[in-house]
Amino acid sequence: MTNFEIFKEKLNNAGYKLTTQRRVVFEIINSNEGKHFSPEEIYEIVKIKHPEIGLATIYRTLKLFEKIDIVYKLNFNDGCSRFELSHVEDEAHRHHHLVCQVCGKIEEVKIDLLQDLEKIIEDEYDFSIHNHTLKFYGICSDCKNRRKKCKKETTEN
Ligand SMILES: [Zn+2]
Ligand SMILES: [Zn+2]
Ligand SMILES: [Zn+2]
Repeated sequence: MTNFEIFKEKLNNAGYKLTTQRRVVFEIINSNEGKHFSPEEIYEIVKIKHPEIGLATIYRTLKLFEKIDIVYKLNFNDGCSRFELSHVEDEAHRHHHLVCQVCGKIEEVKIDLLQDLEKIIEDEYDFSIHNHTLKFYGICSDCKNRRKKCKKETTEN
């Protein structure tokens, strides 16, 4: 099943029609995997080809998508909500995010690595873990390299 087929099925199962704005918003998120768009960023892309679709429609569409599990909403403390596709069949648990506190870039860590911790929690707290969200805050490699270069330049002078 393609992402688009899954998307259509989720809409259908929840009793919603495939409208132009829903298809357009879905396609932007689907074709930009690994990006975490805010509604405003989606709007900027949408309006190029579809100036008739307003920001309020984007908000409403994303809210619906979130409700019926098409997208997942992430908050990164940068003041805006960001969205990514929710399905990802080969991924039992959610990937982790690396948030750069200098440039704001968000990278994904595709491996779970939490199995040992999950096992301990499940045993000790008799709690079944279905998923998790994990964010690491720090400085990305680009920003680190930029800083190194600055230091070098100041010591060379
Ligand atoms: Zn896990
Ligand atoms: Zn950075
Ligand atoms: Zn992500």
